[in-house]
Amino acid sequence: MDTRERIDFDVLFVGAGPANLAGAIRLMQLAAERNLQIEVAVIEKGGDIGSHALSGAILNPMALRELFPDYRTAGCPVETDVRGDGLYLLTERRQYKVPFVPKYLRNEGYHVVSLSKLVRWLADQAETLGVNVFPGFAGQEILFDDNNHKVIGIRTGDKGVDAHGKAKPNFEPGIDIVAKVTAFGEGAKGSLLRELDQKCQIFDSAMPQTFETGIKEVIQLPEHNFFTDSPINDIHTLGYPLDLNAHSGGFIYEMKDNKISLGFVVGLAYTNPMTDLYEAFTRFKQHPFVRDIIERGKVVEQGARALGNGGYYAIPKLAVNGAVLVGSSASMTNAPALKGIHTAMKSGMLAAEAIMEALTKEDVTEKTLSVYHRLFENSWLKNDVYVGRNFAQAVSKRVPAKLVHLGAQYVTGGRGIIDGMPTHEDSQTLQPLKSSDQSATEKPRESLVYDTVLFVDKLTGVYLSKTQHREDEPCHLIVHDTRLCVTECLKRYRSPCTRFCPGNVYEIETDEVTGESKLKLNPSNCLHCKTCEIKDPYKNITWTCPEGGEGPKYTLT
Ligand SMILES: Cc1cc2nc3c(=O)[nH]c(=O)nc-3n(C[C@H](O)[C@H](O)[C@H](O)COP(=O)(O)OP(=O)(O)OC[C@H]3O[C@@H](n4cnc5c(N)ncnc54)[C@H](O)[C@@H]3O)c2cc1C
Repeated sequence: MDTRERIDFDVLFVGAGPANLAGAIRLMQLAAERNLQIEVAVIEKGGDIGSHALSGAILNPMALRELFPDYRTAGCPVETDVRGDGLYLLTERRQYKVPFVPKYLRNEGYHVVSLSKLVRWLADQAETLGVNVFPGFAGQEILFDDNNHKVIGIRTGDKGVDAHGKAKPNFEPGIDIVAKVTAFGEGAKGSLLRELDQKCQIFDSAMPQTFETGIKEVIQLPEHNFFTDSPINDIHTLGYPLDLNAHSGGFIYEMKDNKISLGFVVGLAYTNPMTDLYEAFTRFKQHPFVRDIIERGKVVEQGARALGNGGYYAIPKLAVNGAVLVGSSASMTNAPALKGIHTAMKSGMLAAEAIMEALTKEDVTEKTLSVYHRLFENSWLKNDVYVGRNFAQAVSKRVPAKLVHLGAQYVTGGRGIIDGMPTHEDSQTLQPLKSSDQSATEKPRESLVYDTVLFVDKLTGVYLSKTQHREDEPCHLIVHDTRLCVTECLKRYRSPCTRFCPGNVYEIETDEVTGESKLKLNPSNCLHCKTCEIKDPYKNITWTCPEGGEGPKYTLT
């Protein structure tokens, strides 16, 4: 007999990101307007709300203002307001200020926030309205009705299982959380969406979802620093350390108390398997232009996360029987603007309206919940997402084609030369190395110097993310065929997982005596960025949720 505990709610939101928290709040506001009593829950795999939230993050306040017109006076944690924007092209030693900042990157009047703090504040607002917020619970499995026709909730992961899958004395079985409607808001590359797709074919009529990965730090600067008298406090860069064929860019935003948010984002459609995300991030920081801005600083937090850039044509089915998809999981981002917080929030809010209609009609079928899709098509959110519909395709091309496509898209509101440009999954874009390439890439580059304060190596970065996983639990990173890693991947691509993973989770060890190589995993370093599942050229890696409460412990990112 199954002894699992079962809890019932009207609505369950899986993932406490901006999308779902805004959705839960909007739902409670609608219920209050209608004098309706509903039971709503939000679960979050992070140990605390906000501990897995990582973003740049410049916030376009459009959705937040709709949710809370008085958000400033209500204590919403804003770091600074953007005073001015600067865009720079970096070459190896110099920088050139781009004379005009493209409209998508003009952020004057927007806010710099810490996403971690913002979601904590949103969760407090949700709780005040009566939402049950449960951090430390990972949705591990989707529950379907007996006919497999309808989502009826999720099962959270078991806790206290040893590395061989056996229950330890402190074993706690996962809970079945059953709901009339479940909202999936797991962020980019949601792990439950795989299962949803198998049963409900949510991705069948969408273009492949494509991604970028950003490594980000919060740096404490001294009291008098670059931003003290600067009219510009929102900086974006293009170019170095990757060339313009790759899609990449840096950002530096001023936060309060002399802190800054600094990051480097790389489009995962890159073709060179030797691309090293952490090395690129460090080289960006060590560029003279950036070094001048961050001098005398100290890294106080580091982390990494993938973000979607697929846009409108990559939007999956937004509703199925008993469930909706919101936020970055549903491709709700404005890719050219590097923004997904306000779009995630608005998608959650529109989904809430559809959920309210479904609850009122007592009909949670796909047909009724698809009101959400109609609301989306008629809202400002559609325009925000639509503008980037061909962006990922264009930036994955080489120059000059990339610049021609981007220019055409810029003047035509995203349509460009070919509307609906085809795209590929990021796992399919790596070019195998030829032996001549191998010798070229083996040439030592100017080596990086880490000082453990302002320039920290990968493992110190992992330490600064405060990520933690029990060593004796089943590995949450499933490598389906570890032989393939050395028989194929090492030879063709020189094990790109060792370079695209920002957490040093993947290593190739070679036995000194036999010369045999094998994959070594350090899953306890995992930052939950999900780059491995996205970029592995053999789709040999599946990222699953570890025990609830594990992973990074961000507080400032
Ligand atoms: C480096 C970087 C810079 C960015 N800069 C900006 C910017 O400046 N401005 C901007 O607007 N946007 C920016 N974005 C994008 C923005 O952060 C995302 O689009 C936005 O956070 C998406 O919100 P979401 O709610 O969909 O998902 P997320 O914010 O990813 O939240 C999802 C939540 O769900 C939880 N979760 C996932 N799976 C489960 C599960 N199975 N069970 C329980 N919980 C689960 C996660 O732990 C997480 O807390 C940036 C992103 C990155 C990575």
